[in-house]
Amino acid sequence: MNNPGRSGPKSAAAPLISDIIRLKRKTQAVILTHNYQPPVLFEIADFIGDSLELARRAAEASAPLIVFCGVKFMAETAKILSPEARVILPEPKAGCQMADMITGAALRMKREELDPVTVVAYVNTPADVKAESDICCTSANAVRVVNSVASDRRILFVPDKNLARYVARETRRDIVPWEGHCYVHAFFTAADVARARKEHPDAVVVSHPECPLEVLDASDHVASTGGMVRLAAEHPRMVLGTESSMCSRILRDHPDNRCWPLRRTAVCKNMKMTTLAKVKAALQGQVPEVTLPADVAERARAAIDRMMALS
Ligand code: SF4
Repeated sequence: MNNPGRSGPKSAAAPLISDIIRLKRKTQAVILTHNYQPPVLFEIADFIGDSLELARRAAEASAPLIVFCGVKFMAETAKILSPEARVILPEPKAGCQMADMITGAALRMKREELDPVTVVAYVNTPADVKAESDICCTSANAVRVVNSVASDRRILFVPDKNLARYVARETRRDIVPWEGHCYVHAFFTAADVARARKEHPDAVVVSHPECPLEVLDASDHVASTGGMVRLAAEHPRMVLGTESSMCSRILRDHPDNRCWPLRRTAVCKNMKMTTLAKVKAALQGQVPEVTLPADVAERARAAIDRMMALS
């Protein structure tokens, strides 16, 4: 795969990029961009990263305006961690199908049914679900977070059943998984890995823990997207079992590497809804703003802070 993540000054997008950079300076905004975003959006980002890295950046940001190029739960997390900032999601319809597989009310009912239980919530959840949880985790720190829970406690892990099963195996803990999944990762198979190994015999296969266990078992490494970026420094040829834009992200940092998606069709449609034109409009109008009820934000923050305290 070539490097579509680089948009030089001669690219068609250059005028929009210049406008956004000018507006960013004028409004003192910080732009946080997830690894799965369209590669051209990397050109206007202050920080590019996975959920954990961007959550840290949001907590550290002292900017009055945060523009989040990602999906809704990520922008909510930025708002929770930077309550004084105005947080803008350029495309308000950019949700996450996995996050939509659970609600705060449904979690409350399940919690009562399993009581006593400790609820560990993947950050890919709406704010009201985080507010009903004991501690949050990301794919990068889920094993550490679960290991921090008292060993005699049963754990309800929401909402990704594949990440829950992977963590249960790594920690040997009694984990009840919520039956959610990510449609981008859940449909990879071990046959995809076998085919990739035939096509690229000298590449390492790295898969995201949202994939089914059979895919993780067939892979050489299991890593979050941030972990994949770090592994690229050691492995110049990689096949990635995750959203297909991730190869552009790797090639941005390592232009001489080679990188192939495990399936080219593994595309998160919501992650592709943000465009340069929408970011420019968002900076001009400082809308659409992400807002949360104060009590929900406060309780969600407690669950995120418990996670951050472990990092
Ligand atoms: S890749 Fe999956 S988990 Fe991530 S935003 Fe898209 S649907 Fe949600």
